[in-house]
Amino acid sequence: MSSELQLVDTYRHKGLRRNLVETIRKKGIQNQGILDAIGRIPRHFFLERAFEDWAYKDQAFPIGSEQTISQPFTVAYQTQLLELKNSDRVLEIGTGSGYQAAVLAELCQKVYTIERQESLYQRTRSLLKKIGYGRIRVYHGDGMKGLPRYAPFDKILVTAGAEKTPPSLLDQLAVGGCLVIPVGKSDVQVMLRIWKGEEGTFKTEHFDNFKFVPLLKGVRKL
Ligand code: SAH
Repeated sequence: MSSELQLVDTYRHKGLRRNLVETIRKKGIQNQGILDAIGRIPRHFFLERAFEDWAYKDQAFPIGSEQTISQPFTVAYQTQLLELKNSDRVLEIGTGSGYQAAVLAELCQKVYTIERQESLYQRTRSLLKKIGYGRIRVYHGDGMKGLPRYAPFDKILVTAGAEKTPPSLLDQLAVGGCLVIPVGKSDVQVMLRIWKGEEGTFKTEHFDNFKFVPLLKGVRKL
């Protein structure tokens, strides 16, 4: 199996992408900016060539290293909860394939993302550069600790399932900002949105259930 990436975006891909956008719209995503971003980004660039035909199904898919590229609906759902403004500084935990980071970068200027697995980090960092998302700042590290050097962030997005909310991420939120994180003790998580108010106050909202790969402590080296 070739690991060569297919970096050609054809009319066929564009057509498949339009259908994907309609599917996600019908499932309840109304934010036009997000639908447009999904319509623009060649999702097949983020999968190995052999799996190209899977890129435009509304499904999660394995990307190697026991990880998955999130389902497009889930990407849109989490992104919608972030209520992004173009000027927001956003931190993503769990870079994975880089697709979610690309969606964020279509919507705001400053995107930071952390991946714990060094092999994925290296692969995705070079892919993002190659396909025009070189301004996304990609880091190798334990996202549970956030990225204190660049805090505070207006928005923080966790794309792996957490047993509980890591306190460092709440610390690194700007006042008026929010953290979107799937939290659960079993293999199902409830999507939470936690807003940070003045003087260390937080307000938590609960949304739907999802199944993410687990948020793990520490890093994995090559
Ligand atoms: N956002 C990704 C989905 C990735 S799946 C995409 O669009 O493709 C979740 C990712 O989180 C995996 O790559 C996993 O290795 C990573 N991860 C798990 N725990 C982590 C941690 N503590 N810090 C950073 N990344 C983590």
